[in-house]
Amino acid sequence: MSDFDFDLFVIGGGSGGVRAARVAAGETGAKVALAEEDRYGGTCVIRGCVPKKLMVFASEYGTVAEDAKGYGWDIAEGSFNWGSFRERLKNELDRLEGIYRNLLKNSGVTSYDARAKVKDAHTVELSTGETITAKHILVATGGRPMRPEIPNAELGLVSDDIFHLEELPSSILIVGGGYIACEFACILNGLGVEVTQYYRGAQVLRGFDEQARGLIAESMVENGVQLHCGTDIVEMRLATAEDLEEHEIAGVPMGARMQEMLADHSGGKPGDGPVWVKASNGDVKVFDKVFFATGRLPNTDDMGLEEAGVKLGRKGEILVDDYSATDVPSIYAIGDVTDRVNLTPVAIREGMAFVETVFKDNPTKVDHELIPSAVFTQPEFGTVGLSEEEAAEQEPIEVYATSFRPMQTAFAGRPDRVMMKLVVSKETRKVLGCHIVAPNAGEMIQLAGIAVKMGATKEDFDRTVAVHPTMSEEIVTLKSPVRTA
Ligand SMILES: Cc1cc2nc3c(=O)[nH]c(=O)nc-3n(C[C@H](O)[C@H](O)[C@H](O)COP(=O)(O)OP(=O)(O)OC[C@H]3O[C@@H](n4cnc5c(N)ncnc54)[C@H](O)[C@@H]3O)c2cc1C
Repeated sequence: MSDFDFDLFVIGGGSGGVRAARVAAGETGAKVALAEEDRYGGTCVIRGCVPKKLMVFASEYGTVAEDAKGYGWDIAEGSFNWGSFRERLKNELDRLEGIYRNLLKNSGVTSYDARAKVKDAHTVELSTGETITAKHILVATGGRPMRPEIPNAELGLVSDDIFHLEELPSSILIVGGGYIACEFACILNGLGVEVTQYYRGAQVLRGFDEQARGLIAESMVENGVQLHCGTDIVEMRLATAEDLEEHEIAGVPMGARMQEMLADHSGGKPGDGPVWVKASNGDVKVFDKVFFATGRLPNTDDMGLEEAGVKLGRKGEILVDDYSATDVPSIYAIGDVTDRVNLTPVAIREGMAFVETVFKDNPTKVDHELIPSAVFTQPEFGTVGLSEEEAAEQEPIEVYATSFRPMQTAFAGRPDRVMMKLVVSKETRKVLGCHIVAPNAGEMIQLAGIAVKMGATKEDFDRTVAVHPTMSEEIVTLKSPVRTA
């Protein structure tokens, strides 16, 4: 008989926490509890991957309809109804949250709808006032978006807010150059919002393959996003009537709706607008909304972690070893709160490796090498392994690449280009990186990722017969290197 209330107490009902809790309870018979302070499913299901991807789909139908005309379809002009989409989105997220709750229930996990705090190595305190003991505590509290530290930053939206907008803004300034900033720039642009994007760096999507970044940025601009790199906000505040007279809201003549909003705004609430913005490139504009996609922070504030002996890093992330163990032997941490590779499938794997290590007597490290991932911009980006730049720093390489206009959109008269690229080790011939910028590149890279993970060589790719006619056949027909380094 254990001296503790539970064998495992999981804090956070997101991707990693739910998986760890239900596998530990369902497969090992451990007595497990989980606390979630908000909605089950966490960032991915409620305010991340899932609603975002549904918005990506929504935003693509405009061009699909446009392309259909190029194929002989007689299509009447349509328009996007945000209210109807948002209602359906809400219902879908409710349905998914229900599934997550049931998964826990059916695995025998005790759920607490409460905020949890670590009291000591084996005790958690709940916002309901309960104190619960557990042999092991797993912290899976994820992260949250952050605003920059500038005056009036609270006027800006963050990614959590986008899904709840009462109506789509007519214009928006997106600040940031990471994948979330670029994805929402494309989504909102596709939904008919006038999008301006400021990024203080020289090129968006820092850390990814440079050629891919360049093509994505170029395509975003071609599709209508007003992208300004090397640009940041110098000053922002609520727009006044004088501002509106002086600077019409970006792209939108000051109409009745704007006047109404101006009369209405109570001032200083997140998402209030219109917002007057002075930029480092000298532009002064008024935007309907400002949206900060300027990074995320781990959820470790006021969690009692350091008091209990858990070490935190510079950003507040929980420091863990390869087995997700903290400095306190009974406390583990997984997912975004550890700020390793902040992706849903990684949080899930870390959760499963934790269960193997702690409950199945099978110490399992999480493999963070060669993780395929996608950026759902338009065009989409699928990537696995090293960028050309990273690989060239590591060893002598050959670069095989092609860029072309894909058959489907070229026929419809759209100028879109796609790119396929293999970065190959000169010595071992192994494919060190594969980068695809193309419609559905996320789907392609999942499969190419298997080959790269298996250590496939360029010659293995060459030996594979092409599937014709497809875009992805180009990845097995790349003849000679375009560059060596
Ligand atoms: C806009 C956006 C788009 C994204 N798109 C993708 C994508 O396309 N692909 C991808 O792989 N990843 C994507 N991600 C990242 C992905 O969502 C995260 O990596 C993933 O959700 C991390 O899971 P987690 O379990 O670590 O944390 P989370 O899913 O964040 O779950 C943590 C949970 O803990 C709860 N919590 C926090 N503190 C407490 C407390 N003290 N007590 C109780 N509960 C608490 C929170 O409410 C939350 O539900 C996206 C993220 C964002 C923001």
